[in-house]
Amino acid sequence: MTMVRQFRRHLSWKLFLSYLLVILVGILALALAAEFAVPTAFDRHMLAMAEMMGGRMMGMGMDLYTNFRSAVTEALALAAVSAFLAALAVSIYVSRRVVSPVQEMMAASQRIAAGRYDERVGVPGSAGAGELDELSRLALSFNQMANHLEQTEARRLELVGNVAHELRTPLTSIKGYMEGLIDGVLPAEQATFQQVYREADRLQHLVHDLQELSRAEAGALELNLRPTPLAPVVDGVLARLERQFEEKGVVLATDLPANLPLVRADGDRIGQVLLNLVGNALQYTPPGGRVDVGAFVEDDIVRLVVEDTGIGIAPEHLLHIFERFYRVDKSRSRAGGGSGIGLTIAKHLVEAHGGQLQARSAGLHQGSAFSFTLPMA
Ligand code: ADP
Repeated sequence: MTMVRQFRRHLSWKLFLSYLLVILVGILALALAAEFAVPTAFDRHMLAMAEMMGGRMMGMGMDLYTNFRSAVTEALALAAVSAFLAALAVSIYVSRRVVSPVQEMMAASQRIAAGRYDERVGVPGSAGAGELDELSRLALSFNQMANHLEQTEARRLELVGNVAHELRTPLTSIKGYMEGLIDGVLPAEQATFQQVYREADRLQHLVHDLQELSRAEAGALELNLRPTPLAPVVDGVLARLERQFEEKGVVLATDLPANLPLVRADGDRIGQVLLNLVGNALQYTPPGGRVDVGAFVEDDIVRLVVEDTGIGIAPEHLLHIFERFYRVDKSRSRAGGGSGIGLTIAKHLVEAHGGQLQARSAGLHQGSAFSFTLPMA
């Protein structure tokens, strides 16, 4: 019983049995045909011969018939044996070609499920120049899937590592201040409490940004897209940052064309992107510098540009600044409350609007320009 069950679980056995069945039906049909059709035909033939020769052949007929019958039986037996051997050979060959790759994929998928994401399978027929069959294509997409899983897992690990790292710094500071207060090393005065408050505030910002980031990366940002005038959005952002610009001594200037067309956008979200870009420009521009916000119409899009005369970005960093947690100068960024996620979220937001966010800089200390596009309404 268990043997039968074992066989049932193997595709190669099913293949072999199906061939065997076809052979059996063939042999059976031939045997039946020989049993019924041949004697009748033989009798008819012998009768005709006997009539021709006047009854002298009657005894010889029986002999000839027995001989003929055993020859047919032998031929059938020989055909059955060679068909059986052919079925065995063909099923072994086919199962090598079909079943082995499937078994390999099955084993690999089990190893992937167990967490070994570097698992890949061989692609049958990939060495030749011929067309790939379904099995090869299945192996190819299996490998693609494994690749994707591996990358996702790597990103997940990196994200957890980054988050832990980002949380550690403010938490260590808060703990340090508290220990100082408990031990009486730090004075219990407003300045100390403000430091603790600032660190807690940073944590809150970070958690908020992380939440936004996870929504953005999952493509779950809710956008309220409608024809939106850009001037009020720009004005709102500038009004929020005006005082900080004044305090730092950086000039903030805007130049929006009077008849700027409406864009298809979520005003609040675009405000968020602009706030991030102008906030960055302020943070990375020393006193005495200047930040310009402008808008241009190009074909059926509107381009918003935030340009500063600040510290600029070296070409090797320019490629990476939209990656999450990427900061050119970690200590400078952190001092300004930066976590290196702002631009990642901004990019996701702009792309969710169907636009593009780009950065330009001639190099270190040459200023930077960030620009993004939005489709016209
Ligand atoms: P952060 O919160 O650290 O500012 P962002 O994602 O907003 O994070 O920016 C990523 C990094 O890009 C910053 O840490 C900074 O090094 C660089 N950067 C962004 N804007 C500017 C700018 N206007 N001038 C120079 N460097 C910039």
